[in-house]
Amino acid sequence: MITAKPLSRQASCWQREFARAIRDPNELLRELDLNPALLPAAQAAAVKFPLRAPRGFVARMRRGDPDDPLLRQVLPLAEELAPAPGFVADPLDEQATQAAPGVLHKYPGRALLIATGVCAVHCRYCFRRAFSYTEARAGANQWRSALSYLASDASIREVILSGGDPLALSNRRLSVLLAALEQIPHLERLRIHSRLPIVLPERIDGGLAAALTDTRLRPVLVIHANHPHEIDETVVKALECLATAGVTLLNQSVLLRGVNDDAATLAALSEALFAARVLPYYLHLLDHVQGAAHFAVKENVALAIMNTLRQRLPGYLAPRLVREQPGQLAKTLVESRR
Ligand SMILES: *Cc1c(COP(=O)(O)O)cnc(C)c1O
Ligand code: SF4
Repeated sequence: MITAKPLSRQASCWQREFARAIRDPNELLRELDLNPALLPAAQAAAVKFPLRAPRGFVARMRRGDPDDPLLRQVLPLAEELAPAPGFVADPLDEQATQAAPGVLHKYPGRALLIATGVCAVHCRYCFRRAFSYTEARAGANQWRSALSYLASDASIREVILSGGDPLALSNRRLSVLLAALEQIPHLERLRIHSRLPIVLPERIDGGLAAALTDTRLRPVLVIHANHPHEIDETVVKALECLATAGVTLLNQSVLLRGVNDDAATLAALSEALFAARVLPYYLHLLDHVQGAAHFAVKENVALAIMNTLRQRLPGYLAPRLVREQPGQLAKTLVESRR
């Protein structure tokens, strides 16, 4: 007799897509009709930080173009292995700012909880690329000490779920976490930092929208898009679903050489975001992490791009150019010196 699995045990559609991500450099090159000569370098660089790209995201890349701005974000390159002075494993000294296991509390009023170490995509420029992404999700025990830290400090008004990618957690696990956070009386806002709405929009389902809006905490979702080509119809639909449910939507980008280091691209990104009901929040200067030096944009170039961008867009569509400096009490605004 064939028995159907109970519904709760079946992987949902997004979980299957999550698991089906491309991890083999050879498959990625074949999928996009790229020159097989790129393979040895891709394989070598993937040893340090594995390739991972959801198929739906790869489908938005141009075939046969090794410089495609979406491909550049995920394809391992020989440049990653070249030594670059000043580019280190932990550029933000995050290991030193752990307030409790899995909690970073650097800025007054808000604390960041590493909800899971898993990501749907591996971004080659990621400042956490040197940490183990294969590490299992933070167990219930780890949440327990994180939760008691948050409960012990009444100055914390906002909890930021980060990772990894917190939306890699199932709706059920996320709801368990939100229910526990809701019990902490001084928390008012729930912020989630996630790249999943962009790289795996299937993740945004009715269950997630309900989980985010059924809580007394005010929900803010900060997505992560770097290039207008990342925002296709499926992404717009997913974001509209969340906006309609009442989630405040913001975007952060990283300024990346060869991906989005020109005002026209960033202006198109802001316009596409707004059309999908998202406001631009931050444009980050690259953190100097080992293996990402080829993405760096010089500060004076970044400022010139920002000046042009501000002339082209309404003020509310121009993101704030920031850099993270260890030891500061907020992100540092990057402005022209006069
Ligand atoms: C970036 C960051 C935040 C959030 O900063 P905002 O300026 O409020 O967006 C909070 N905690 C840590 C550790 C961060 O790196
Ligand atoms: S999704 Fe975010 S945390 Fe994960 S690899 Fe990309 S930048 Fe890093």
